[in-house]
Amino acid sequence: MIRILIVEDEKPISNLMRMSLSRAGYHCTCVYDGLAAADLLERESFDLILLDVMLPGVDGFELMGYIRPLEIPVIFITAKNAVSDRVKGLKMGAEDYLVKPFEIIELLARVEVVLRRYHKLGSVLEIGGLHIDLRSMQVFRDGQEIALTPKEYELLLLFAQNPGIALYRETIYQRVWDSEYLYTTRTVDLHVQRLRKKVGWQQILVAVPKVGYRLEVPRELSH
Ligand code: CA
Repeated sequence: MIRILIVEDEKPISNLMRMSLSRAGYHCTCVYDGLAAADLLERESFDLILLDVMLPGVDGFELMGYIRPLEIPVIFITAKNAVSDRVKGLKMGAEDYLVKPFEIIELLARVEVVLRRYHKLGSVLEIGGLHIDLRSMQVFRDGQEIALTPKEYELLLLFAQNPGIALYRETIYQRVWDSEYLYTTRTVDLHVQRLRKKVGWQQILVAVPKVGYRLEVPRELSH
């Protein structure tokens, strides 16, 4: 299992990250200050560290100096207006950063990109009875390939990579169609209905009233 260390002193944010990442199939450990993180890193190994910059005691930048020799990828978490922190973090060797407040799907996407870069994740997703090959962009159920349009494939991936999370229609539209201006709920609803039928997700790709849709299955991470 992929192990993620969350170093964040704000409990609500830390809890939210742990819950979302656990639901997506990652094993998470939370610490709330820099010293506790350094202590833990002496005893245990991790595949990725989510590191808040502003920490009590030893801050994220100081901790980065300690982490770098361990060669564990780091995603910095910075405050909204701290552009200089982002630059400094990247210069110190962080892989990426997240700006508070962030959306859960952004957190999951960035985590996934960094893990793929480090070859910690396989190129196959097994979810909801489907076998999704991310390299060839092919989708199989019981060994039979399911033909999807490019938009349907994008839509499928969005749900497959965000299991258990209610996705707003607007968010779905922006992610799949890359445009905010031509948004209609009808487009999203039609495509979701077609996708459900094609991949056999009628029972698990559920409508969330007044929001959008949620995929109700645990995800299995492949290595
Ligand atoms: Ca903080």
